[in-house]
Amino acid sequence: MVAETLNHIDTLTELPNRVYGCQLVEELILTDKVTSAHVIVLEISRFGQISDSVGNSLADKILTMTAKRLSKIFSDAMCIYRSHGDNFCLVFDGDLELQQYIEKLQDFIQRPFAVRGKIIVLSVRIGLVTAKLAEQSYTNAMHCAEAALHYAKMNGLKVCLFETHMLDTAKKEHQVANDLRRSLISNSHELFNAIASDEFYIAYQPIISRNQQNVAGLEALLRWNHSELGTVMPSNFIHVAEDIGVMDVLGAWVLRKACADTVQWQQTLNLPNLSISINVSPKQLINADILLNSLEQAIESSSIAPHLIRIEITESVEFADSVPASLQKIRSLGCKVALDDFGTGYSSIVKLTTLPISDLKVDRSFILDLDSADQEKSDKARIIARGIYGVANGLGLNVITEGVETASQLAIVTELGADLIQGYYFSKPLLEKEITDFLQHSKVAI
Ligand code: C2E
Ligand code: MG
Ligand code: MG
Repeated sequence: MVAETLNHIDTLTELPNRVYGCQLVEELILTDKVTSAHVIVLEISRFGQISDSVGNSLADKILTMTAKRLSKIFSDAMCIYRSHGDNFCLVFDGDLELQQYIEKLQDFIQRPFAVRGKIIVLSVRIGLVTAKLAEQSYTNAMHCAEAALHYAKMNGLKVCLFETHMLDTAKKEHQVANDLRRSLISNSHELFNAIASDEFYIAYQPIISRNQQNVAGLEALLRWNHSELGTVMPSNFIHVAEDIGVMDVLGAWVLRKACADTVQWQQTLNLPNLSISINVSPKQLINADILLNSLEQAIESSSIAPHLIRIEITESVEFADSVPASLQKIRSLGCKVALDDFGTGYSSIVKLTTLPISDLKVDRSFILDLDSADQEKSDKARIIARGIYGVANGLGLNVITEGVETASQLAIVTELGADLIQGYYFSKPLLEKEITDFLQHSKVAI
């Protein structure tokens, strides 16, 4: 009996594991006649990347400390268990007030961890449901909470209360992940087949120079053409490609194709200075030899001038210690490096001086409120935007403003001194076949 119970305890955190946790809750439901329960699932955001950045043993320590903290703060829980990896589940009596738990969890989220001399601030997402256990099984309730967590992840929410439509979204996402796994996991041969048969393609979004009155460059944005779901956006599959270890191969293809396409447009449309921005994920930067190799090959096979390539990086978790050196190597090849989505995630002003970057992409979230009807909001947004442009210019960084959607946003950022602009106002990402037309006729629109 003891051995059986031990098998059901997660050895790292000493919490019950998923199977045992569910069993415990079900037993409690039977014996205590609990009729409803709040089921809360909690996930540490981008834990895989944190683990890559701080190392496995520190990552394990973070999980252990999280488990300890949860047990201490929520001593009144019916059950707390580790459902898998960086996922924990907390179950409370449904007769108690849910809001107090949400507030406590939010407080929990904000407290930094001190782990072996490092201060780590976690970001967690929470999905929750209040289940009537006479009407649905506990397992079913847990799936609903997981669907809410999934919805939170996909929509950038910290906390999300379950609604029925979220089950459909989760099912669809699950299918995407499975299909991607199926089509890519076995070996790179299958991946190349998928690429060759146009399962993947690149959309290109123009970046406009207000000063030059022309299209300064394009950003390559990867798409996956799914046989049933149609176009799948990168936010729904890049993390899966990273998880199953095919991002290097996929990323190499994007580099090669984007450089080759750009050179073709440079030549056929007589646009010798047209630049190309290419996104790379933080995973590709950790062991950057493959990335550097692919980049060199893309430059060599296309004969593109390296200074016309801009590698875009996003700091969604603290970069690994090796990243600055990798970026320096990219710069040494003559390419530009841009910090993407500046102002979101972990990117901070300090990074502008510590990372060897040449360019800065100001995130859409700063642009959104510039033309808000709420005067106070738009005034504040303007002050912040002016500050960012000032700092970037002072540091000699090239600034690209992302997500400009309206004429009034364009007027404001232009007045604040923005030159390079990208956003739906000028154009959404375009198919390869639409680019020629845009590049030829863009003068009219700019
Ligand atoms: P990103 O690099 O910040 O790219 C800009 C995203 O904002 C694109 O979304 C683009 O379609 C969208 N966007 C552009 N202008 C506007 C606008 O005016 N309004 C709004 N609402 N959105 C706008 P998309 O194509 O879904 O790409 C999402 C992210 O996926 C990219 O963000 C990038 O981080 C990543 N990604 C795309 N392609 C690749 C790739 O080949 N490799 C890697 N590692 N990541 C990629
Ligand atoms: Mg980008
Ligand atoms: Mg961006």
